Amino acid sequence: MDKIAFVYMGGDEFEWLFFEVYDRVNRYLRDVGLGVTLVYAGRIKLPPGMLIRVETEDGYVKMYSFEAVVEALYGKLVEMKNSVNDDSFTKIFGITTLPIGSRKQYFEIYKKYLGIEVSIGNYNVLVLSIKPFYTENRELFIERVFKGVLHELGHLYGLPHCNNDCVMNPPEDLREWDLRAPTYCNPCLMELKRKLKPKPPLLHRAYGCSHC
Ligand SMILES: [Zn+2]
Ligand SMILES: [Zn+2]
Repeated sequence: MDKIAFVYMGGDEFEWLFFEVYDRVNRYLRDVGLGVTLVYAGRIKLPPGMLIRVETEDGYVKMYSFEAVVEALYGKLVEMKNSVNDDSFTKIFGITTLPIGSRKQYFEIYKKYLGIEVSIGNYNVLVLSIKPFYTENRELFIERVFKGVLHELGHLYGLPHCNNDCVMNPPEDLREWDLRAPTYCNPCLMELKRKLKPKPPLLHRAYGCSHC
């Protein structure tokens, strides 16, 4: 079973959403038989100094600095490894409440409902902002973020974008996102299962086996 540390990076007001999405993603992963699970790894409070103001078409928007968010998540992985001597966590997924941006490079996440995935050595750091998905309709809000998390998990395991009615099909706008089925399409699911299948032990492979 592959484990992904799941971290909340925001204020009290959206913590309920984080846990709803966490439960729903884990239920989904279990139901479709994917060998991966989210493990709650706590909350990271970013100091106000990590907020930046980025100029967008809609004027100045307050955002978390992309570099600071990635560094904080990476630090959390290292801390987990050192404190409990558990190096089985190599992947971490942060959910932020503010958009994520950078002074060096404007990612347009604010507009495009996309997360970010960064590899640092053997570690994978994923970030998704819930901000672009906001609606007062709680169920819809949960579903939008749920799909966003599945989309990023798909990328994490090497899935490209897809043209089917599928969470791997990126939307032009929120209306399109709401029409997408809250699931991977069959080809994407098969591909994910193939990628997540445990590899046979090294020795076994080294000697070669007609069944593998
Ligand atoms: Zn994507
Ligand atoms: Zn698909």
